Amino acid sequence: MQSFANNSQLRIIFIMGVLTVAMLLLQSLSPANAAENMIFSSKQTLVMSKAEAIASALNASQELTGEMVGEVMNVLGMGDVNQIMVTDNEGVVLYSAGNAEDKIGACALFPEIVSALGGNDAFRSVYDGDSFMSYGAVPIVAGNDLIGCVYVAEIDKDQAALLESIGDNGNRLAILTIVLFLCIYIVFYVVITRKNEALLESIRKVRAGEYTHRIEVKGHDEYATLSSEFNALTDRLQATESSRRQFVSDASHELRTPLAAIRLLSDSIIQNDMDQEMAREFVQDISSEAGRLTRMTTKLLNLTALDSRQMEQQENEPVNLGACCRKAERLLRPYAEEMGARIEQNSEDNCYVFAREDDVFQIVMNLAENGIKYTQKSGAVRVIGFAQNGKANLIVEDDGIGIPEDELERIFERFYRVDKARSREAGGTGLGLAIVRETVEKYGGTVKAENRNQGGARFTVQFPLYQWEGEP
Ligand code: ADP
Repeated sequence: MQSFANNSQLRIIFIMGVLTVAMLLLQSLSPANAAENMIFSSKQTLVMSKAEAIASALNASQELTGEMVGEVMNVLGMGDVNQIMVTDNEGVVLYSAGNAEDKIGACALFPEIVSALGGNDAFRSVYDGDSFMSYGAVPIVAGNDLIGCVYVAEIDKDQAALLESIGDNGNRLAILTIVLFLCIYIVFYVVITRKNEALLESIRKVRAGEYTHRIEVKGHDEYATLSSEFNALTDRLQATESSRRQFVSDASHELRTPLAAIRLLSDSIIQNDMDQEMAREFVQDISSEAGRLTRMTTKLLNLTALDSRQMEQQENEPVNLGACCRKAERLLRPYAEEMGARIEQNSEDNCYVFAREDDVFQIVMNLAENGIKYTQKSGAVRVIGFAQNGKANLIVEDDGIGIPEDELERIFERFYRVDKARSREAGGTGLGLAIVRETVEKYGGTVKAENRNQGGARFTVQFPLYQWEGEP
């Protein structure tokens, strides 16, 4: 079980839970508060208007008497209030109605009465959870003289009960919502945790080397996307792993052949009593096998470098394709002569590729060398570089043996050779075209092989053309 600090879902759920509770509490409190305020202000209106009505009915004479107040009150009545008292200017009760009738003659110095006798209206309302109690007092002023005050009290249990039920309902609703939300969060947590666990389990399986493992994709949510991405990644891993295994097994197989030959030849020299001429021939063979091993390991290193260089930022530059073709022609001429063939070159000068010069040169060399290797005696190999339709084109064609139609694609695979014996004889490794294709693709280009109608093979490489006007 992950700890709370390391479990982001738990943290999110906890924060959401706290927020929900806080929001609900606020929400449940606010209607009760608003209702309470509304009731207070309606009470103030009720109590104060009653007190003012009585005060204005009593301000006609200069002096108040209990009898006079009683008469006025008989006309005005109690209205909706519970208690009414009228005092003289010293706070002595002249009239009292409601639940305090026995106060006549007593001195009633409630805070509201004191304030009214000081010349100010006073109001106070209290809610004790059981009832609303509102008290108000206004001075009675006759001319310039304060002759007494009216005190009105009102006690309301009905509105208090209503307010309480609003509060209770709000609380019940809040608790219900919290419970509901908690249930939803728990379900959400369990579902997400299960999905995460399944995903983690799959990642661990693949990490342990189970490349055939796939996640079953259900639904269309983020987990479905994550699962299909995971499956695509595993497909890729599986393909890479199987091509790596294939490569290692092909490479060991290919390296074993020349090594076995060297071993056989050297054993023969050691064990047999042979003349010097024959021994020299055997040693020459050993040397040529060793040469092939060197070429093969160099090319294997090239391929490995190609694989890893794709990752790193390489320094490309504008490369003159024509110049590469000319250099290849120059370097390969002696080899062509040795093979009894010709090499011709006819390239434009203003055709540039944005790449590494070594890579472009290597492509031209590999293709032209193959052309010479697989051409008939007195045949020719033509190397042409030119720009056309936004592409830098390289064509290498020969008058040679051509390639069987159904193998035109396969010759670009690592270690693939149409005629193993002939390739061996010519010192081939089966890696040259693989290097060509991987290098070309690294620069966003394409390479294709075809047979010429007149006989022989034609290789066409197309790179994105680089618009380059030369050094400023
Ligand atoms: P190799 O070292 O064997 O030449 P490559 O990868 O360069 O390896 O070529 C793969 C195979 O493609 C060769 O073994 C050969 O059968 C065939 N091939 C390549 N170029 C030509 C060509 N110009 N003409 C005929 N066959 C060719």
